[in-house]
Amino acid sequence: MTDSRFEAIIVGAGQSGPFLAARMAERGQRVAVIEKRWLGGTCVNDGCIPTKTLVASARAAWVARNAARWGVTIGGPVGVDLAAVKARKDRIVAESRGNLAKWLGGLASLEVIEGEARFVDPHTLRVGDREVTGDKIFLNTGARPVIPRLPGLSDAGYLTSESIMELDVLPAHLVVLGGSYIGLEFAQMYRRFGAAVTVIERGDRLIPREDPDISAELAAILTGEGVDVVCGAEATAVTGGRGDVRVELTVAGAPRTVAGSHLLVAVGRAPFTAGLGLDAAGVALDARGYITTDDRLVTSVPHIWALGDVNGRGGFTHTSYDDFQIVAANLLDGADRRVSERIPIYGVYTDPPLGRCGMTATEARASGRRVLIGKRAMARVGRARERDETAGSIQILVDADSREVLGATILGIEGDEAIHAVVDIMYADVPYTVLQRAVHAHPTVSELLPTVLDALEPLEGTHEPARRPLGFAPGGR
Ligand SMILES: Cc1cc2nc3c(=O)[nH]c(=O)nc-3n(C[C@H](O)[C@H](O)[C@H](O)COP(=O)(O)OP(=O)(O)OC[C@H]3O[C@@H](n4cnc5c(N)ncnc54)[C@H](O)[C@@H]3O)c2cc1C
Repeated sequence: MTDSRFEAIIVGAGQSGPFLAARMAERGQRVAVIEKRWLGGTCVNDGCIPTKTLVASARAAWVARNAARWGVTIGGPVGVDLAAVKARKDRIVAESRGNLAKWLGGLASLEVIEGEARFVDPHTLRVGDREVTGDKIFLNTGARPVIPRLPGLSDAGYLTSESIMELDVLPAHLVVLGGSYIGLEFAQMYRRFGAAVTVIERGDRLIPREDPDISAELAAILTGEGVDVVCGAEATAVTGGRGDVRVELTVAGAPRTVAGSHLLVAVGRAPFTAGLGLDAAGVALDARGYITTDDRLVTSVPHIWALGDVNGRGGFTHTSYDDFQIVAANLLDGADRRVSERIPIYGVYTDPPLGRCGMTATEARASGRRVLIGKRAMARVGRARERDETAGSIQILVDADSREVLGATILGIEGDEAIHAVVDIMYADVPYTVLQRAVHAHPTVSELLPTVLDALEPLEGTHEPARRPLGFAPGGR
């Protein structure tokens, strides 16, 4: 296919672009997908898929090392062959990327163009020495790791979430700058592989966007495995390099140095818009640098859409994929779907994982509602006790007046799966009593969700004293 006029051009083959391209091509539309690196983008190549394969290897090492807990004997020390771990990860990533290439390659009216796209004018993009024009253009260019401006950092041979996954020799001591979702997955994983690990977090606690009690529970899990955590720490400089790296900090006003062999920088991600030439198309950015979109993901230019991390409305694979579903439904199926209908949900894939949906308790307090909370420690969940993995808790928030479920946090085994029962009840937009009366299979974590809802109490700071909602029946189902 050499004609350079397309009905649709997709820039970036992340978690929405290829699916949208395929839907359009299946309708017979002429579609181009332009990708400057690898099909599948971050999730397939540098994000979810590779990290979760590594988390699985790390868990296997942890189970083997702790086998005696379950009465299992391992006849010798447990070792981790990082080269073999990486080879397994590379194989699974290559399979996923290959399957995507095969699928897209099999669609007759779809052309994959390799190279970096840059706007020449609102309908034209340049890729290498070729110019392509599109009636509609969809930007799915994703995000990249943020590298802070720290004296000495650029000479320190630091790792990012991308380059750390190329290591095939175990670091002696991994220092992780950033105690949020990505940093903590790598911290626990490398500790389980056998490295010493120190996490440095600027905030006064890990994963500061979660409720303080959840941060504390997760910190206890990680420190219990031997991860050092330094919070309230402002990094001021980096000295040395790969093999002997030192991070200079100010902690509570006092200087401190954390030394290690490798430094992972995991302080956040920023939208990937550099080099796109958005000015030439008139596409507007918000104050944080994300592409501005309306509720249907249309940018400031009516024939250009932005999907996935680059629009700042999600930051996850499932939100990017949902962006595709919204745009496809609106353009191809005559629907009127909007991003604002989406309920926030995500997992943090430490072990045990954190499953989250809807509001945190902090957000519920700020909402001005009267809120009820149901809590249960994982130590009181049969499944967790049988597995002898009892860290964490279940928490569900309910509006005391409307009886709608506002959100939930499940930190503990299967928390990333059990959370979906809660989000589904939120999508169904029915009172919490529907979930309270549901019968779930035994023995699971999900079977305790109705029981948690049997024991709702006022969330501190959201009620007048001793006021209870209508229809509240403690202990009853
Ligand atoms: C370490 C890590 C772990 C993660 N784990 C999870 C997880 O467990 N669950 C989860 O939901 N999310 C996770 N994420 C986030 C998830 O990977 C992203 O949200 C997801 O990939 C969606 O990205 P996207 O569709 O916006 O674009 P991306 O997947 O980032 O793809 C964008 C593509 O655009 C290409 N591109 C950019 N500019 C141009 C240009 N000018 N021309 C041509 N091509 C261009 C890029 O090369 C890239 O391939 C993780 C991220 C990281 C970094």
